[in-house]
Amino acid sequence: DVAGSAVIMVDTAGLEESAPGTIPSRMRKQTETAMRSADLVLFVVDAREGIVPADAAFARLVHATGKPAILVANKCEGRRGLDGMYEAFSLGLGDPVPISAEHGEGIGDLEMDIAAALGEKPLASDVATGSDTNATTIRPLRVAIVGRPNVGKSTLVNALLGEERMITGPEPGLTRDAIAADLVWQGRTIRLFDTAGLRRKAKVDGIAEWLGNTDTIRAIRFAEVVVLVVDAERPFEKQDLTIGDMIADEGRAIIVAINKWDLVTDKQKMLKDLRETVGERLAQVQGILLVPISALAERGLDKLLQAVVAANDTWNRRIPTPELNRWLQEAMARHAAPSSRGRRIKIRFMTQPSTRPPTFVGFCQRADGMTEDYKRYLVNSLRKAFDMPGVPIRLQLRKGQNPFAKD
Ligand code: GDP
Repeated sequence: DVAGSAVIMVDTAGLEESAPGTIPSRMRKQTETAMRSADLVLFVVDAREGIVPADAAFARLVHATGKPAILVANKCEGRRGLDGMYEAFSLGLGDPVPISAEHGEGIGDLEMDIAAALGEKPLASDVATGSDTNATTIRPLRVAIVGRPNVGKSTLVNALLGEERMITGPEPGLTRDAIAADLVWQGRTIRLFDTAGLRRKAKVDGIAEWLGNTDTIRAIRFAEVVVLVVDAERPFEKQDLTIGDMIADEGRAIIVAINKWDLVTDKQKMLKDLRETVGERLAQVQGILLVPISALAERGLDKLLQAVVAANDTWNRRIPTPELNRWLQEAMARHAAPSSRGRRIKIRFMTQPSTRPPTFVGFCQRADGMTEDYKRYLVNSLRKAFDMPGVPIRLQLRKGQNPFAKD
């Protein structure tokens, strides 16, 4: 019985000894047969061990069936296994659901996900935006509300949740104080991570310790989109910027909510100034959307949620390889790459191996001679050409030619 429905579970055999990255044929057959008759696949990885080549091989099998799948990260009891869980994103099977089978943690959440995957059609909004229609889209959008003490985080969370607050209980990996609560906005479930517990601690321990608090980073890691709340009366103090950098370093989509907007007199000028400040001070991520709100007066909340959903779409954006390479040729023609040991560096080919955040790899000779300036130019040009504001963009350069070239 899973969340009120009768479900038949089929368990497949554990992994046999085999060459790394391969699956013995008998096992492959058995697994394929089980998946063919299934409505939903639960793909389990060991979060403490991290992702191993066999996981990637099995993930490809799951992809090949085209069946909806839920990625389950096991052995996440307490605070363990988190690194492995983040690695698991790379399997391309959506968000890992952290559980501990042995300790019974996270099972309630998993049951809800199973029920949702089996019972619900993809949301209309997801179909409209052309996102994948597999199990990932019916998972709640995970949003963390972060910021220094007294900027109005708790007020905002309460305003967003309104009357229908539904606390889903402590999340594995987060502290008991940091709770998650779901709200439904335009047919889409948004799971808010409220870090109210951090605040209580901050008042006792002081700011310095609070900033070092790993719970902030944990909340950021759990989220897909992070709302950085700043106080309009004291915007972008050092702590605000430190948190902003943390969000960018973790590769999350960022929205800045300028709270207490009701107290601002010259709103036009203020917004213009703040845009400039953000562009300069959070320079890693260009185009961060600023949303003026008043949590107290419940103003601007719809715009905020709209921005959150849009940022998530950008964060998940995949650019087709041909378009990417057309852009690359133009970008290099417009502004030539630097030279290394007397010869101009030429990036021959680029692909986007992953999203969340959008991550690109360029192949060239003498990659080590590339300058940070030129990489920044490419990232900014890429961001503009494909309209990807407010999300970190990763660009790596590797030695070599086009890895997919036939010759
Ligand atoms: P937190 O520490 O970030 O969770 O901040 P709180 O939500 O506890 O808010 C800190 C203070 O700011 C409280 O006195 C709130 O009433 C006040 N506050 C929060 N939002 C607003 C707002 O939009 N306008 C005004 N004027 N005050 C606000």
